[in-house]
Amino acid sequence: LDPNAERLHPTDKELERVLRPQTFDDFTGQQKILENLSIFVKAAKLRGEALDHVLLHGPPGLGKTTLSHIIANEMGVGIKITSGPVLDKPGDLAGLLTNLEEGDILFIDEIHRLSPLVEEYLYSAMEDFKIDIMLESGPNARSVQISLSPFTLVGATTRSGLLTAPLRARFGINSRLQYYDAKLLTTIVLRSAQIINTPITEEGAFEIARRSRGTPRIANSLLRRTRDFAQIKGNGQVDKAIAEYALKALNVDVHGLDEMDNKILSTIIDKFKGGPVGLKTIATAVSEDEGTIEEVYEPFLIQEGYIMRTSRGRECTELAYKHLGKINTNKPNT
Ligand code: ADP
Repeated sequence: LDPNAERLHPTDKELERVLRPQTFDDFTGQQKILENLSIFVKAAKLRGEALDHVLLHGPPGLGKTTLSHIIANEMGVGIKITSGPVLDKPGDLAGLLTNLEEGDILFIDEIHRLSPLVEEYLYSAMEDFKIDIMLESGPNARSVQISLSPFTLVGATTRSGLLTAPLRARFGINSRLQYYDAKLLTTIVLRSAQIINTPITEEGAFEIARRSRGTPRIANSLLRRTRDFAQIKGNGQVDKAIAEYALKALNVDVHGLDEMDNKILSTIIDKFKGGPVGLKTIATAVSEDEGTIEEVYEPFLIQEGYIMRTSRGRECTELAYKHLGKINTNKPNT
């Protein structure tokens, strides 16, 4: 059973909705971002204006969608949700924009995947709250400019490196979400367990937290799986023993690394003698996009101390060898 395959299970989607914090106070971690956002929200409300456009970037599952809902809640405005790949033509975007009420939030997930045409169309909407609409087609085609209600665009992206400079420049607020440490994730797991009525011990929550790749979405999903084990194999309570049992049965890596994380590490070690090796070479060897490795996988592996970024490329650390049970033959004997 591949735990990764479970991450986007439809019932997990429903769970995600239920577990979503609703207010700044309810949201755990990302403290600096929350402090700033709550000031910007208060100031905008005080002035009776729409909040500045917000760009949220960072790896999947860290709370970008959640935060945008919270912003709407705290501003007391509505929110419309779409995503880059769904907005095919400027007309799709125009339909959404003209339906926004004053101060509303338009959330565009995967904003780096907007087509250039739609992106360009967004510029004047963001800057002047105006868009041009084409009326009729063929020889009678003409464009009229219409005004929009002032709104806030919240853009989310896992790949900020792919955003064009003009788009990036149109966001007044720009926040990068960080991975969560095990302590924060323990708090999140305890909160989630309470919401889904699952008895849990602090140690049980910690066991789940430390194997969740720094990611609340994974932590919640593992909690759900572990709860099943607690009900069938235990007495219903998620404690340390049942959490260990469940996570072992689910084949979850002891440190929460996923398949691609492990593939990257073993590739660097087996094919490139532990590095240093360039990002492009790694990407080709593991058949994954170079930017995705740089922005989605590498930050966690660096943060946890499995790889180092050196001037000559990426290098595996002793910890990576130990994690994979391999012997570092480059290491000088001491
Ligand atoms: P993203 O949009 O970055 O991919 P989401 O906002 O969809 O991530 O979050 C995924 C899940 O993780 C949601 O169910 C949400 O409840 C949970 N989550 C994310 N961040 C937090 C947090 N700071 N505290 C509690 N739960 C969180």
